[in-house]
Order: sequence, then C-alpha cells, then structure tokens
Amino acid sequence: MNLTVIGCWGAYPEKNEATSGYLVEYSGSKILLDCGSGVLTRLQNYCSLEELDAVVITHTHADHFADVYSLEFAILILMQIGKRKKPLDVYVYGSELCRLSFSFPQYVHVHPIHIGEPLKIGTAKLEFSENVHEVPCCAVRLTTEDGKALVYSGDTGYCQSLIELSHHADVLLIESSFYDWQKGMMNGHLTAGEAGTIAALANVKQLVLTHFPHYGELSQLVEEAAQRYDGPIHLAYGDMKLSI
Ligand SMILES: [Zn+2]
Ligand SMILES: [Zn+2]
Repeated sequence: MNLTVIGCWGAYPEKNEATSGYLVEYSGSKILLDCGSGVLTRLQNYCSLEELDAVVITHTHADHFADVYSLEFAILILMQIGKRKKPLDVYVYGSELCRLSFSFPQYVHVHPIHIGEPLKIGTAKLEFSENVHEVPCCAVRLTTEDGKALVYSGDTGYCQSLIELSHHADVLLIESSFYDWQKGMMNGHLTAGEAGTIAALANVKQLVLTHFPHYGELSQLVEEAAQRYDGPIHLAYGDMKLSI
C-alpha cells in the first residue's frame, strides 16, 4: 500500500498546507483518513475526486473533518455532470454521527464506525480502538491483503488501547502534538516522547510523527521520540509518500 501525507498540522493549516489528511492506496482502492482544513485542494494533486472511494473520519474536530463538507459538494457536482459514477462512502466514529450534517445523502453515504466491529473497504480490513480525547475519537488499523498494517492514531492522550491496536504494525502514523516539556499540561494529546513509548511497546517497524504544534523546532520531536524508540522515525510533511 502507499501512504501520502496530504496535511500534517494540528489545529489549523500553515500557509498553503493542510491539517489532518492521509491518502491510502491499495489494490485499486483510494481512501482518505481524515479530511481537515486545506485537505481538499491538496488531495487533488494525488487523487482525482472521481476516483476517491471512501473517507474515514476519526472524530468531529474541525482539523479532522472541516473539508468533508466541501468534498460533499464536489461529489454532488461531479456526479451531476456524469464525471463520477458512485456516491462517496464516509465512515464516522459512531457516537459522533449526529454531529455531522450532510445535505445530500444521495451523494454521500454515511456509515457509523463501531469499536470492535471491523470494516472492509475494498480488500483492506479496518479495525478501531477508542482514544482518550476531548470528544469521542478512534484510532484506525488498516491491514491489506498482503498482511501489511498501517495504524493511524487520530488524536489521543496516552492509552493502552492504541498500544494494542498498533502491535507489530509496519507503520504507526501517530499524533505528536506536544514537546516533552509540555507533558501533563494538556489532556487528550501526546507528547513526542509518549509517541515513542507507544511505538516501542507496540514493537512497530517504523514511526511517522504528525499533527504538529505551530511553535518550536519540529526536529526536537524526533529527538524526544528517539529517546524511547530505537526504530526509524520520520517527521510527516505535506507530499510525503511512503510505500508500505
Ligand atoms: Zn486534531
Ligand atoms: Zn481532536
């Protein structure tokens, strides 16, 4: 499978960039994990909107779903002019469904995500775990037919369930919202050191840090994660591609 980072900022996008959005391609399927602000315009560099199969929304914070409403209009128009043949499937963490209000249900098919109930999208299996966050939020493990596994944390504080979901994953794409000196100052997000600890305990093959703060030196996040995890560590960036 191929992972492309569309956006990697927490809260709001830096100039010409995007918040959370990750394109995953495998066996002819193209799915988007989260669709935050700035994602829709940048996504089109890598995937035509006619071809996008599904969107998975981990939670209803704007930096993870704001652009899904613009995407709804794109699907509406592309289907009306005959360029797109099928509605878009949008999977949303179950208890958050009521907070999303699409206007055109014939073009966007919304499906609830339930923890403990794996989904199949194309040939991949998706499993979920409950995060620690201000609103209900899930982490996602996507496993392809050839047994490769990508885990995306969504937003979360430190939790055992993410360690279990990430067990032996080929790539753990994990939020790293804070530097270690901020540990304990904010709930519901990880420091880079905590991200490293989760990667080490889960024995993942490589780590990609994302969902960045808008201050400090981001390279410090890698240094802090590396104090706890000795595998390869990457800093996400818009346009980053990873073959898994
Ligand atoms: Zn966020
Ligand atoms: Zn959030």
